[in-house]
Amino acid sequence: CGIVGYIGHRQAYPIVIKGLQRLEYRGYDSAGVAIYDGDEIQLCKTKGKVDDLKAKVDATINAEGTLGIGHTRWATHGVPNDVNSHPHYSNSGDLVIIHNGIIENYDAIKQELTKRGYTFKSDTDTEVLVNLIEDVQRNQDVKLGKAVQIALNETVGAYAIAVFDKKKPNEIVVARLGSPLAIGIGEDEYFIASDASPFIEYTNNALYLEDGEMAVVRRGKEIKVFNIQDDKIISQPYIQELKLNLEQ
Ligand code: GLU
Repeated sequence: CGIVGYIGHRQAYPIVIKGLQRLEYRGYDSAGVAIYDGDEIQLCKTKGKVDDLKAKVDATINAEGTLGIGHTRWATHGVPNDVNSHPHYSNSGDLVIIHNGIIENYDAIKQELTKRGYTFKSDTDTEVLVNLIEDVQRNQDVKLGKAVQIALNETVGAYAIAVFDKKKPNEIVVARLGSPLAIGIGEDEYFIASDASPFIEYTNNALYLEDGEMAVVRRGKEIKVFNIQDDKIISQPYIQELKLNLEQ
């Protein structure tokens, strides 16, 4: 399973789909993308291979936009099928999430959200998380990053996530606990991935989130890294220079 994301000045889709292919070795049963140009979110997902996803994207959506996220799924909650594939929308349709890992207490959260009127299309733990984030946004007047942080503190489990909000076309929020997440830092552009292989050809500068860290990645702004538990800002995150061994 794997995660890829891009926000910058280039078309996101070619970067995201190629990145998913590079992460295929991690194993998966389904794949999906969401591409955003600030107008309509273009979302496409399918059970099967990244090549199947590519064919479906070509046939069904207009994958143009400079923000994009992509996912390969290794099903843990809900059978592998198109509906359970990621990305998942929140009930309002504004939030979009991809997630690797498991939210162990998803059932209790789902029951609580159901009482408050939320409905669920899939059987995944992930769709519960994206609606929990939406619920926090609704009830507390906070920014997306803060809503993600509050929601994650209510979960038990493991995750690498990337989430964006239709109302915020210049921002992706990412977080990790127990599943890997790397951020490639280019010039006025950011790459997100489970490992550096999807972005090594674009930048040598990588920031590997530590367990329990999250980051707000904004177009044209410096990256901000936070501790999920106490919301403390990590003032000088360690940016590594990746070395390509061209002889190998
Ligand atoms: N638990 C999530 C699901 O079953 C994510 C699985 C994964 O790591 O790909 O959809």
